[in-house]
Order: sequence, then structure tokens, then C-alpha cells
Amino acid sequence: MRKLAATMAIIFFYSIHALYAQRIPTPKQHFGFNIGDDYQLATYTQTEAYFRKLAAASDRVRLVEIGKTEEGRTQLMLIVSSPKNIRDLEHYKTVSQQLAHAEGLTDEQAHALAAKGKAVVWIDGGLHATETVGTHQLIETAYQLISRKDPETLQILDNVIILLTHDNPDGQELVSSWYMRNPAPEKRSLENVPRLYEKYAGHDNNRDFFMLNLKETQNIGRQLFIEWLPQIMYNHHQAGPAGSVLAGPPYRDPFNYVFDPLIITSIDAVGAAMNNRLNVEGKPGYTQRSGSVFSTWYNGGLRTTTYFHNMIGLLTEIIGSPTPAAVPLIPQRLIPSSATPNPITPQPWHFRQSIDYSVSLNYAVLDYAVRYRDELLYNMYRMGLNSIQRGQKDYWTLSPKRIAAIEQLYKDAPRERRAPRADSAAGDPEDTNAIPVKYYDSVLKDPALRDPRGYIIPDQPDNATAIRFINALINTGIAVYQATDAFTVSGATYNKGSWIIKTDQAFRPHILDMFEPQDHPNDFQYPGGPPIPPYDAAGWTLAYQMGIKFHRILDPFDGPFRRIPYGEEQHPKKTFTASPSAEGFILDARANQSFTVANDLLKQGIRVQRVTDASTAPRGSFYVPNSPTAIAALTASVSSTGAEATPLSQAPAPASLSPIRPARIALWDTYGGSLPSGWIRWIAEQYHFPVEVIYPKDIDSVDLHAKYDLIIFVSGAIPPLPVPGATMPGRGRFGRQPKPEDIPEEYRSHLGRITADKSIPRLRKFLEEGGSIVTIGASTSLAYHLGLPVHDALTELVGGKERKLPGEKFYVPGSVLQVSVDSTQQAAWGMSSKADVYFEQSPVFNISPSTYTTGQIRPIAWFATDKPLRSGWAWGQAYLQNGIAAFVATVGKGKLYAFGPEITFRAQTHGAFKFLFNEMYTTLVIDDHGSTDTHIRQGN
Ligand SMILES: [Zn+2]
Repeated sequence: MRKLAATMAIIFFYSIHALYAQRIPTPKQHFGFNIGDDYQLATYTQTEAYFRKLAAASDRVRLVEIGKTEEGRTQLMLIVSSPKNIRDLEHYKTVSQQLAHAEGLTDEQAHALAAKGKAVVWIDGGLHATETVGTHQLIETAYQLISRKDPETLQILDNVIILLTHDNPDGQELVSSWYMRNPAPEKRSLENVPRLYEKYAGHDNNRDFFMLNLKETQNIGRQLFIEWLPQIMYNHHQAGPAGSVLAGPPYRDPFNYVFDPLIITSIDAVGAAMNNRLNVEGKPGYTQRSGSVFSTWYNGGLRTTTYFHNMIGLLTEIIGSPTPAAVPLIPQRLIPSSATPNPITPQPWHFRQSIDYSVSLNYAVLDYAVRYRDELLYNMYRMGLNSIQRGQKDYWTLSPKRIAAIEQLYKDAPRERRAPRADSAAGDPEDTNAIPVKYYDSVLKDPALRDPRGYIIPDQPDNATAIRFINALINTGIAVYQATDAFTVSGATYNKGSWIIKTDQAFRPHILDMFEPQDHPNDFQYPGGPPIPPYDAAGWTLAYQMGIKFHRILDPFDGPFRRIPYGEEQHPKKTFTASPSAEGFILDARANQSFTVANDLLKQGIRVQRVTDASTAPRGSFYVPNSPTAIAALTASVSSTGAEATPLSQAPAPASLSPIRPARIALWDTYGGSLPSGWIRWIAEQYHFPVEVIYPKDIDSVDLHAKYDLIIFVSGAIPPLPVPGATMPGRGRFGRQPKPEDIPEEYRSHLGRITADKSIPRLRKFLEEGGSIVTIGASTSLAYHLGLPVHDALTELVGGKERKLPGEKFYVPGSVLQVSVDSTQQAAWGMSSKADVYFEQSPVFNISPSTYTTGQIRPIAWFATDKPLRSGWAWGQAYLQNGIAAFVATVGKGKLYAFGPEITFRAQTHGAFKFLFNEMYTTLVIDDHGSTDTHIRQGN
């Protein structure tokens, strides 16, 4: 009887599902083709319509609009689960949050919640829009999960809440339309997409996840770090290494030392399930660990930022294209190993195969989540609790520099070497690697080297930027406090309004990562051999990059602190006090938002001057004479930017004031779009600088001096100079371009390159006539093209010949370094005497002493010590000492500014933005009669 009832229930259950399944439109019915058919891609417009149809047709779906994209499209997330779970989503979301935050729960309560909760698994697609498998597997996976009635699918729906998230609607629309524009299928190609597939950042849309500059990352970050806190997140990319089908978890070393170890072992477990499933299904070609370049070191990727939040982040990089291709023959890939247990042999390859692999991989992850549902939920709690406990006691994170310190201490005490190792209680007493434990104690029990209990961000000259940093923490799910009154910690007194971040919270790894240096290991192919590049940056400490002033607190502390609710973004509270009796107002040059306000005022024709000495305000500050229009403009601009305008009862001496107007600024870009140029475009919009994008053809044709005061060249713009000894690293884009007849008319003007024979003489003329040029990173090679008396500082003499220092001697991949700054120079107004800059195998210069005396070239920033590393990896950093990081050179009536470091890197380096901002005005010179001439001294 009971059996019959159960059978009836099952029949009823299936028939209900069959009912719904009948109404689910297939991809073919909607798109006109099957997902994975050769030569067929869906646009976002079509995909959005399909997702809405699925949501309308099925009770397994909740459609969520997670926000608008940079181009104004609606970004969608499909939540898929059983109809019952869908009705209870809010409840399960709360359970997920409670376990992830691990606050105020006993172990029993955590187990009970885990037993009743549902696993939350994030699966996304389309972040990198030219990687077309990503969006298409998302569509196919959605269809299958919503329409299938097999027991495995039903189990998944009952136990898992699946967040199917579209990462980049704008990119899919652009790339699919580009591919499909050719009516002849065989001629369709993903090559030569004319612009970035994310409006500003292109591929860097996957480097924005601790910063959250872009609308898409803000939308995604909200769901990941504030709303859902999934236990597993799976981020789809392509392509797999040649000769494989895909690279997947687990990943190669190094992993980041702040992680909870459960992250690494859980990636192992889920990775094994993924690899296993493909092998069971007879799908070869999965490679892992040393089989690919992907590691878990970096924070800031969509996948990698989740590790710092105790989530199991998965990345696969799969092959596949709508245009049929082939798995090539790479002989070494055919030797089975623990990296590639099941190699794939050379063969033709179709898009649909990649879709099928992807669906299998998604099902493997979801099946894992079914089998280990309560464990996943509980382990996330456990990791959060571990973090809280580490933040509540004296704790020392293990990292290479700590271990090196232990070894150094031992080495410096040679008489101890033969001391009996009586304290070696376990293990082989003959092990010659063992050293007395007191060396451990003297480093890893040194109170000065403890991890902080928290950080205090006090009132500072650039409070609006500090709040931007605070919001980067809040929007990635960090609990932040604000002081409701003045308070004292470790003898220092802090104002009301100071910010406090304590490390006894679940996402402690992320906090440490944003404040502390990354200690990247010395990673070489073999001892004495070439370096192994990190997958992305080696060091990125956001507080350093942004120039935030903060205090590390090593002992327990408390005070009158108000806890800000999770995800509640903060806004500067300062309002402008009109002070009608004031002579005028000062906008402090140390604050980046002062530049925004100055720009707003200039746009309205209001007089703005810069203070050229330090007598009344920090040098370079903006002075605005009092007037009703100035007060109205300041009131509006200060409240929207968080800048601070201070009334002055006495105007600065006229001799110290220099009136400015907005420079006419050109920003180089290229066909297909340059990432660093796109980021500057974004920064210019944020800080209200008017910027016009130009292309190499413009440089070769228009009267530059008549149209522009300033031209900006980022890395990849100016070609390297083909002489020995010149430094030309960086992200050059000097490859082939399409033929004009193969691309639409509107993009043809974007084609072309800066050339030594045509463009460089025109840039020289522009400078000589009084223009300014800012070059950043590899484009500082312009100095060599112009024959300026500067040299590459990173060379050595071998057999009488100069050559670049090899990687075995000097290697600094993306890292944060400290430079000394001459802040009396206009280019560095508002900067401190020291600054942290982002250095990525960046150019460094020597200037001959005789040049100093002529004054033609003046250093702006330089490496003053043999240890400039602040965060990351700087092998052979002593070579940097005395090297010039940035200089200004006089060329005719104009100025060339050369900044070796990436001063606008991914719009994260707020602490270095002023190096660029200061050049973005034209200084007016006042003649004897008090009138101004705009053509005398431009762009200083
Ligand atoms: Zn990718």
C-alpha cells in the first residue's frame, strides 16, 4: 500500500513536470538553431528573450534583473531549483548568509542549519564575450535543468539552488552580431572585433572584482558577496591549452597564503568530481595543476575573489568555436600524467562538443553539491569560524618571507649548526633540514609580526578616496564599523567618523589581502633559471594602490563603533558651507575629487586658479574666488563628489596663483580597443575631465597643435625603438590588423599604428610647437624615439655590449613599489614625498648628470632605496636603486612626461592618479596688464 502510494506520488510528480516540460520552448524553437550548431551564435537580445520565456513557462525558475550594464542593457540571473525551493528562496538565502558569516552560531546550530539548507551553486557564462562557449553553455544548461525529468536532474533541483548568471550582456551582443554579420556561414569569424567587449575594460572585466569599478562587476558582486554567498561558484572561460579540451581545477601553485586550507582541499574534491565525470562519459582531454598556467594566487578575478570569501571557486578554460576547428597534435600532451590523466588525441572539433562537455561539467558540480550538500554548507561555516577565531587571537600567517627570516637567523648563527636537535621530538633525527625550534619562535611568535586584529582608517586629506576604498570592502561583503565618537587605541586618538575594520570576521582573508602586502614566492623554473610568471599580478594591496592612510592594530581593541549593515554603501558626509564673507575657497590638491570640482567649475566658466607655492595651502591646490556663481557651483559639486572646499579669509598672494582652463585632451586608442586606454576613458568620465579619443590616423593627419593641448599614450601605443638597451616591455599591440574592406565603414578610421617614420615626427612637431604629451609604461619609448638624453637603467654590460637584465637577475611582474616624489613639480602636485606605484616590468631610466644642469630633463619620481618592494614580487630589486621612474623633458616649447609605472592601472591606482590629472589643465599666464594669454605656457 505504502509502495503503491509512493509510486502514485512519483507518477503524479513526473506528470506535473511533463506538463511543464511541454511548455518549455526548446532553443531550436526560439533561436532557430540548436545551441552548438556549427556557425551559429545567439545575441544577447535573443538570449534575454529566451530567458524571459523560460521564466514565464517554468515554475523551476525565478528570473532576477541584477542591474543595468554599462551600455544600458538589463543583466539577468536565472535562479533554478525545484518549484518548492523557488517558493522558499528567501529562507534558503538567509540560511546561506548565516552559515557564511558564521556569527553567533553554535556548532550544533550550524550543523542543524546545514542539514536543512540547500546548497547554493553559482554557474555563469559570457564574461569574456569572444569565448563564446561560455554564454552558449549557459543557455543550454538553463534549458536542460528546466526541462529535464531524469532522476539526477530532479535530485539536483531538490537539493541545490542554482544561480545561472549572465556576466556580460553587452559583450555577447557585440561579439555575436559581429560573427553573424556575414551571411555566408563559412566566412563567419570571431577575429577583429572592432571595440572592447566591455565598454571600458574589455578583458579586464575579469580583473575588477575587489575594486568593483564597472556596473557589471557591481551587479555580480552584489549577488555573490552580499545576497547569496554561494558555497560553489563556477566561472566559464576558454580556451584550454593546445592539445587539451579544457583546463580545470585543481590549479598550479602558488596559492594565496591567506586562504583557509579547506579552500584548497575543496577545490581538489570538486575538481576530481568534474574530471571523473568526463572520464566516465568517455570525454577525454581534461588537464589540471601543472597542465595549465592557472593558479589561485590573484585576487580580483571573478573566480579568484571568491576564495578570499571561503567559496569554492571553479574555473574551466575550454576549447570551442562556432566555426569548426581541430584538436591539434601536441606530442607532449599525449603522455598521461596526474596533470592530464586522459589525454585527447588529435581530431576535428565542433562547437556542440564543447557545449556537451560544459553541461557535463556543470552537472558534475551540481551532482557533487547534491551528494555533499550539508558538508558544503557546514564547511563554509567552518571556514568563516576559523577566520573569526584567527582574528580573535595572536596569529601569524605563514609566508615565504617569514620562513626566509627563520632560515636567515639560523644562518647568521653558525656556531649553532652542530647543536644537538633534542627538541626535534618527532620525525627522523638524522634529517639535516631540521633546525632548532627556537628559530621558529623568534619569528613566528614575535609579537611585532602578528597579523593585525584590525585596521583603523582615520580622517585624512583625501577622505572621499578613503570612502571609495571602504565601499570596495563593503561591496565585497566585509563588515565595517564607523566611530560614533572620538576614541583612543594604543595611545592614538581618532576622530568621530573614523572607519574600523576588524579581522575577526568570516572574510578575514579578503581583509588581510586588501591591507597587507602579498608575499609572492620566488618562483623559478629551476634554481638559477628563468622566472615563472604569475598568472596575473603578483602584488596589488589595494590600500597601497589607493594611497589610503591606515593604522594596523595588533592588540584587541574596541570603542564607540557603529556596525554598518552588510552591503550598505557609504557616502561622504561633508557639505559645503557657503561662508559669503570669505575671499575665496581652497580645494586641496591632495584630494582627487578636488579635480572633479575644479572641472565642474571650469565647465561653467568659473575662474579657477592653482596655488603654485605652499604658503596658504598644499602646493597645487585650487583657489576659487568668492562669487555667487562660484558658491552655487561649489555647493552642487561638493555634495556630489565628497570633496572639501575650505573658505579663506584672505586670498593667496597673486604671484602664487596661476589661472587654468581645461586642456584639450586627446587619448590614444586603437582598432579593437586598448584596455589601459579604456580605463583612462573611464577615469576621465568619473573625474569629469573632457577627453577626446583619437586613433593613429588622426595623429598622422590632423593639425595636432591647433586641436589639442595634451595627448595621452598608454602602454601599447608607441612602438619600441629597435635599438639595443631600450626597454620595451608591457602590453604592446603591434600585431596584424584587418583590411579596411573587411570591416564596416564606421570603424575604418580606427585602423593604423603609430609609426616611427610618419607619426613620431608629427609628435615631435606637436611638442616643439608647445603641446604636452603624457606617456605611460611602454609608451615612454617615445623618449628614445625623440633622442632625449635618457637611458634604460635596467641593463648590464656583457662582453662590452649593453643588454637588458635577464629574468634570472631582475624580474618584477605586477607589483606595488615605492617611489620618492618631487612634489614641488607640477606633475606631482598634491602627492606626498613617497608614493606607492604599480610596476609591471615597467621602464626605468637613467639621466646623465650633465642633463640635470641644463634642466632639460627633471625627475618626478625615482627609486631611492635598494628595497622599494611594497607588495608582490621584486627579484633583484636592488637594481632599481637610483633609477628614475618618471620625468618631464622640455622639447621645444612643449613638455614630454614619461611615467614608467602604470599610474592608472585598472582604475585602481588612486594614489597615482594625480600624476596624470596635473597635466590635464592648461595654465594661463597673466601679463603685466592683468589680461591672460592662453598661448604662452601650455600644459605645464
Ligand atoms: Zn576568459
